[in-house]
Amino acid sequence: MSNFGFATRAVHAGQEADGVTGAVIPSISVSTTFKQNAPGEPIGPYDYSRSGNPTRIAFEQAVASLEGAKHGLAFSSGSAAIATIVNMFSPGDHLISVNDVYGGTNRYFTRVAKPHGIETTFVDITEASALPASVRPNTKVVWIETPTNPTLRVIDIAAVAALVREHAPQAILVIDNTFLSPYFQNPLKLGADIVLHSVTKYLNGHSDAVMGALAMNDDALFQKLKFLQNAIGAVPSAFDCFLANRGLKTLHVRMEQHQKNAIAVANFLAASPLVDEVIYPGLASHPQHEIAARQQSGFGGMVSFRIKGDLATATRFFQHTRIFALAESLGGVESLAELPSVMTHAALTPEERATLGITDTLIRLSCGIEDAVDLVEDLRHALEAAQQA
Ligand SMILES: *Cc1c(COP(=O)(O)O)cnc(C)c1O
Repeated sequence: MSNFGFATRAVHAGQEADGVTGAVIPSISVSTTFKQNAPGEPIGPYDYSRSGNPTRIAFEQAVASLEGAKHGLAFSSGSAAIATIVNMFSPGDHLISVNDVYGGTNRYFTRVAKPHGIETTFVDITEASALPASVRPNTKVVWIETPTNPTLRVIDIAAVAALVREHAPQAILVIDNTFLSPYFQNPLKLGADIVLHSVTKYLNGHSDAVMGALAMNDDALFQKLKFLQNAIGAVPSAFDCFLANRGLKTLHVRMEQHQKNAIAVANFLAASPLVDEVIYPGLASHPQHEIAARQQSGFGGMVSFRIKGDLATATRFFQHTRIFALAESLGGVESLAELPSVMTHAALTPEERATLGITDTLIRLSCGIEDAVDLVEDLRHALEAAQQA
């Protein structure tokens, strides 16, 4: 399928008609086990559903195709995919992570990997010199997200890949591509070794399944991770794979609408006297706008902004939105809003939040696929109401 465009691959990759019934949609294959002709001779390519399941394989092939990758692997959550990667390493190994990595990834590195002897150094990778200075002979991974969460800082993936090859050739580069989805960014083409997704977000896109996925080109890396996928066993159910695969078929259509709405929202907020700062990589005012324009094919659906006022103003804002629901998570068809300092990033110390610019007035929006005019009207009303103490 690799010669076809994104939309064609989103609809068709991994989706072969059933050889027996002709069903166009891969069935939800619920069987945990598969009959064998003779001991050790399964009838087809499957023997046990944790090791391999037809519905899961269809989804894995679809994700791989959308990332331009040779291989895909699905997991029961984005966090399970993260844990499975870290399980490739041994006590004494060292990881480097971008400092504003997803909170759950930070928690896994510091509270699960570290007690097992795998240490992580967190660095501000937007400072080019910071990376070589943190490399050790035992550094096995450089782990980044771009745009970061919730301040949407953009990291030059090709530049980081070049630094890794030069200063840490023994390390692999992992990119968490959850925020843009493969529709707007393909990190493998920019030099990454593994792309990670929380499928829970844009790939499934309907806020009704928790799942994760990895995509990669290297055969040896794939074999290692496939072994660990089966050995650790954090695999998704066939039903969730079906849901995520159905979601994936409209990814390109949804991402265009998420972006259209995000641009309308960012432009409205940028012009509002009730807003101190708008952060959206698509705005010319964004500090890494040029990097984003170069390495991404779009700017995505996430917008962060600082409301004029204080924590009380921000808290009141959420009382007055009617479409934006106050909730964690992102990437679904419905618009969500949250306060990172109190919600997604509450586990950080006040000092860490200050370093990352996560103030009490910073609001993160996940723009859904509703009508842009309704989203803007919702924000206008809530911003005005929030100012009345
Ligand atoms: C949500 C998220 C994860 C974790 O995924 P789960 O599916 O919630 O386990 C990892 N990275 C990013 C950027 C996320 O937004």
